[in-house]
Amino acid sequence: LVLCCWTAIANAEYMIYKDHKMPINHRIKDLVNRMTLEEKIGQMTQIERSVASAEVMKKYYIGSVLSGGGSVPAPQASPEAWVDMVNDFQNGSLSTRLGIPMIYGIDAVHGHNNVYNATIFPHNIGLGATRDPILVKKIGAATALEVRATGIPYVFAPCIAVCRDPRWGRCYESYGEDPAIVQAMTEMVPGLQGDLPANSRKGVPYVGGKEKVAACAKHYVGDGGTTKGINENNTLINRHGLLSIHMPAYYNTIIKGVSTVMVSYSSWNGVKMHANRDLVTGFLKNTLRFRGFVISDWEGLDRITSPPHANYTYSILEGVNAGIDMLMIPYNYTEFIDGLTFLVKNNFISMSRIDDAVKRILRVKFMMGLFETPLADYSMTKYLGSQEHRELAKEAVRKSLVLLKNGESADEALIPLSKKAPKILVAGTHADNIGNQCGGWTMQWQGQTGNITVGTTILTAIKNTVDPKTEVVFSENPDAGYVKSNKFSYAIVVVGEPPYSETFGDSLNLTLPDPGPSIITNVCGSVKCVVVLITGRPVVIQPYLAEINALVAAWLPGTEGQGVADVLFGDSGFTGKLPRTWFKSVDQLPMNVGDKHYDPLFPFGYGLTTEPTKAN
Ligand code: BGC
Repeated sequence: LVLCCWTAIANAEYMIYKDHKMPINHRIKDLVNRMTLEEKIGQMTQIERSVASAEVMKKYYIGSVLSGGGSVPAPQASPEAWVDMVNDFQNGSLSTRLGIPMIYGIDAVHGHNNVYNATIFPHNIGLGATRDPILVKKIGAATALEVRATGIPYVFAPCIAVCRDPRWGRCYESYGEDPAIVQAMTEMVPGLQGDLPANSRKGVPYVGGKEKVAACAKHYVGDGGTTKGINENNTLINRHGLLSIHMPAYYNTIIKGVSTVMVSYSSWNGVKMHANRDLVTGFLKNTLRFRGFVISDWEGLDRITSPPHANYTYSILEGVNAGIDMLMIPYNYTEFIDGLTFLVKNNFISMSRIDDAVKRILRVKFMMGLFETPLADYSMTKYLGSQEHRELAKEAVRKSLVLLKNGESADEALIPLSKKAPKILVAGTHADNIGNQCGGWTMQWQGQTGNITVGTTILTAIKNTVDPKTEVVFSENPDAGYVKSNKFSYAIVVVGEPPYSETFGDSLNLTLPDPGPSIITNVCGSVKCVVVLITGRPVVIQPYLAEINALVAAWLPGTEGQGVADVLFGDSGFTGKLPRTWFKSVDQLPMNVGDKHYDPLFPFGYGLTTEPTKAN
């Protein structure tokens, strides 16, 4: 026995790439030298979990798996079930010839929004209103823990779009219209990944251990600047405009060590970003010296041509030669693998381009310790939806609320609301609805209305906050007669947009969806009212403003509705400031601070403040 094992050890080849004591550059070089073209192309391929299996991972040497927007494995699956799923795919990868671990990525864009019982933080637009980068960094750290709780090491966040037009259905994924706010909020990156060690080389990706995740700055670049806010459309702006409005935040994320950058579906002056070699290779990799990997968006290659997928091999040629390293090919991965193989074998794409892509992907994997600890365990499941994280989310909600109106004068102020009123009315479609509170990218890609996950609705929070003797009456859509005939001291109306994401959320008229307007009129015409808007962006409100006594923009606050009640009733003060200009009418759009003809309803940066009250 002794003899056999000694022989085995003596025969086992020393492999530099497996030696964690060796410098990462040496490990990368050693590993790339051992890889076949097939293995390299596999590394560049990211597939959707629904088509992944241990066998597929092994057969095609797949480098990465993602959860497409949607709740998986099932809405209420336990974190342990997630860990098992991720590990199952990983075991497939580990059983390949070279045993290169895959990296699993997911959209955790306001907390780990894919998993039942996770803490859902306000969407980015609300975080922009807080003007608090330190808070945003803490949210990043909490999100990293909850994502790791499910065995996942990589998130497609933060979105550092600069929302220049609220008609865009992704405006809420942006921290605001002002490049400086977005730059400040890139603190999300060290929150997710950890602080770059002082002596590290800037531009090199960094993830500080197994309580952190690799981040992804998206969508490069100009996604928030498309004409009329039409999603995936054209951003018409000169180079100076692009470089001064949309680009600077990328620089900030890169010097903070962001691991990956996702390319935008949109075009810049007619050129699809997925085919823009000048900006992807030239600017991002060469000028900004980004050393992590560039990932395509979901079927981003297909959309290089119009109609999509018109000439897929040609699209692969354009995209890979533009400098995209990992390709998000949810379903048709064999078509991609065959196409890329053909292009390399026929010298349309050079081996050095392939090696550049693979080295970048491997750098992230080595750097974050995936080779040493490829499998997750259950030790972190306790972080999912923890009380500490919910407290942090409450704080974020409190700071994100913007008070836009509070009576016509100080002595008419309705906020802070009295906790001791005998009988109050709570009305509106968004008062008792966790799904509406959370918006898109929550449990499902497009979000979902209803009580879809664990949290506190605004109605419940109000009940928790008022005096036990106060009667809280809830009526979702009351008629005026009912409101008049009851002796309510005041009413809280909570209305807004239904959940939506991406293209489905584009809106050219930005009207407050029905029955919001009639609820406002029925209630506010009959009793003193505060209107709380649950929206991803400014909406048409001017026509109703005169009948509203107090108006609050609450954005998409997430699961912790208690934060809303805390500020309404004065347990905390209002401090939030508008991250987006509030228009009077849509024909003014796009309208951004600094424009020549700037005539908003509420300007960028606006927000009344209130002092917290002791018992009221
Ligand atoms: C979105 C990305 C997202 C990706 C993966 C795309 O449709 O544009 O932001 O990361 O899907 O879910």
